[in-house]
Amino acid sequence: MEKIKVELGENSYEIFIGENLFEEVAKFATAPKFSKKILIVTDENIFNIHGETLRKIFSRYNSNFELEIIPPGETSKNLAEAEKLYTCAIESQLDRKSVIVAIGGGVVGDLAGFVAATYLRGVNFIQVPTTLLAQVDSSVGGKTAVNHKLGKNLIGAFYQPKAVFIDVATLKTLPPREIKAGLGEVVKYGVISDAEFFCYLEKNIEGILSGNVEIFKQIVKRSCEIKAEVVSSDEKESGLRRILNFGHTIAHAVEEETHYQKYCHGEAVAIGMIGAALISQKLGCVDAEKVTRLKNLIESFGMYTHCENCKVEGIYKALFRDKKTVGGKINWVLMKDFGSVEISDNVPEKIVKDALQEIIV
Ligand code: ADP
Ligand code: ZN
Repeated sequence: MEKIKVELGENSYEIFIGENLFEEVAKFATAPKFSKKILIVTDENIFNIHGETLRKIFSRYNSNFELEIIPPGETSKNLAEAEKLYTCAIESQLDRKSVIVAIGGGVVGDLAGFVAATYLRGVNFIQVPTTLLAQVDSSVGGKTAVNHKLGKNLIGAFYQPKAVFIDVATLKTLPPREIKAGLGEVVKYGVISDAEFFCYLEKNIEGILSGNVEIFKQIVKRSCEIKAEVVSSDEKESGLRRILNFGHTIAHAVEEETHYQKYCHGEAVAIGMIGAALISQKLGCVDAEKVTRLKNLIESFGMYTHCENCKVEGIYKALFRDKKTVGGKINWVLMKDFGSVEISDNVPEKIVKDALQEIIV
C-alpha cells in the first residue's frame, strides 16, 4: 500500500493507495478509538458488485454496522437523501465517536461526507472512492456538499476525512466513460503542476486505455500527491487552490449550457482545458505547439475536444454565472507551460470569445 499524507495541522490524514483494500478499511474503521457502531453508505451499483464482500469483511471485524444503499446518480445528492441518512444514524444510535464510511463515487462521497460533517456537528468520516474521478479529485480536499434544485453543490461544508482508501482494483468494473471523465482531471494535474507527469501520460496512452492496474496506481498516486500539496497549502480555497480550477470556468459554463445532460463533468473539463489553453495562446502566454500537445492527449483518450450545439454568446454569458466568478470578475487559470500556470482576472472579452469559437462545432 502506498501512503500519501495530507498535511492540514490537526486535520491531517493519510491517503492509502493499493488493491483489494476493503480489509484495511474495516480494520481502520473498527479501531478502538472509534465507537463500535458504524454507518456504511454506498449506492446500488457498488452494492451489487461489492455488497457481499463488504458484509463478510465488516462482519468479521465488527457485527455492529448499518449498510445504507442510495440510488446511483447525481439526483441522490440532495437534502432528502441526507435526511434519510440522518434518520438511519439516529435510529442506529451513532454517537460523536462513530464512523461513517462512504464507498462509491463522488455522489456517495459528497453526500455521506456532508452527513458526517453535520450529524452531531461532525462525526468521523472515511472515504473509499470507487470512480477514477473521485479517486483523483473529489475524495481529496475535504469538500462535501449536496445539490439544491436551483444549483449544484450549493449546500456544503469543508470537512476532512480521517483517512482515504483508494482501491484501484475497483476501477475494473467502472464503465469506460467514467474512466474518461476521471482522466480529464488527471491531465489537468500535468498541466498545472508536473510536466514530467504530462509526458508520462503521453507515453502510456495504450496502457491507460487498456486499464493497466500498475499504470493506474501511478496515475492515482501522482494526482493525489499534487492535489494534497495544493490543498495543504490552501485548505479553504483562497489562493493557490485556485489553480485546480484550470479548465473549470469554461467547463462549468458548458455543463450549464447543456443542462448537465450531454457531458459529464470530466468531459466538460477536457473541453474547458482546451479553451483555457487557447486563451493562453492568444494572450501570448504559451506556445501553439504545447496547446496542440494538450489537445492531442485529450483526443487520444477518446474524449470530446469540442462542444456541440452551443453558441459562443450562451457560453460566454454562463461564465459569469459560475460560483467562482466574484463581482463580475473571472479568475482565469492560464497555461504557461506544462507544469506551470498563472491566474489573471484581466482577459479581454474578444480573446475569450475567439477561443470559445474554436471549441464549438
Ligand atoms: P463521480 O465520481 O463521477 O461523481 P458517481 O458517484 O455519480 O460519480 O458514479 C458514477 C457512476 O458509476 C454511478 O452510476 C456509480 O454507481 C457507478 N460506479 C461507481 N463506482 C463504480 C465501480 N467501481 N464500478 C462500477 N460502477 C461504479
Ligand atoms: Zn473538476
